[in-house]
Amino acid sequence: MDEEATPTGTTVRFCCGHGADAADARITLQRDCPLCMLLAETTRSREQLLRKAAPAGRAALARETRIGASYEWICSRGHSRFEASVRETLTGPGCPKCARNAQAPAARFEGGVPFMKPGLKLGTSQAEQKLRMLLGERIRLPHRVNAIRISRTFYGKPEVWPDIIIPALKVAIEYDSPGREGTSHRGLKEASDREKDDALAEVGWAVIRVRTGGLAALGPYSIVCSGVTDSAVEEVVRLLGAIRGEEAVTALMRTKPSG
Ligand SMILES: [Zn+2]
Ligand SMILES: [Zn+2]
Repeated sequence: MDEEATPTGTTVRFCCGHGADAADARITLQRDCPLCMLLAETTRSREQLLRKAAPAGRAALARETRIGASYEWICSRGHSRFEASVRETLTGPGCPKCARNAQAPAARFEGGVPFMKPGLKLGTSQAEQKLRMLLGERIRLPHRVNAIRISRTFYGKPEVWPDIIIPALKVAIEYDSPGREGTSHRGLKEASDREKDDALAEVGWAVIRVRTGGLAALGPYSIVCSGVTDSAVEEVVRLLGAIRGEEAVTALMRTKPSG
């Protein structure tokens, strides 16, 4: 193995299997590498850390042993990518904008942050409830959020209220049907749906739309179907994986896929 392939560039191998390859190791230490030790201390897994890293650095980070090593990270709140050491990422907010917001009293008004809007009444249809129930059987859905702060206003409000919110994936799910009159989500309503998707995209959220009753696809993640069925829900789960990665979705699953 060449120097580049071993992130530490040393001949030390650790108990956890990180460091030099077994064949190249001159010293095998009877303890885990510093990174694995810090992960254990902060009760995080290597997978959780990898998910925070920008994709280009993940292969190296998977084998990293040094907590001072610098990587590029993705802010879970949708801020721009930032450079930080593994130590900073595991022990603090890492993201400089999040660090600044943590000190500001207005932190909860940050765009992209989901929150509970008290007293919010939504005309929840049976189909929408069925979608929530079937999806809730597959992945864990939060009950304590119903709105997402945006960085513009939508119908005069600095927030939107999607049907289903999955904060861990930053994905909102909308159930669209033409309604009894056959006019909902058509014409001007379609423009408003698009505007809502744009507002969410601005703050780092993706939208999956379940489109029934003859409504055509709207946006990149549309499921055109006859109604809320198991296969429609299956497609939602598949799209979640396509948007945020299988690993992130698997982490939310109630029963892990077998095989
Ligand atoms: Zn290790
Ligand atoms: Zn941030």
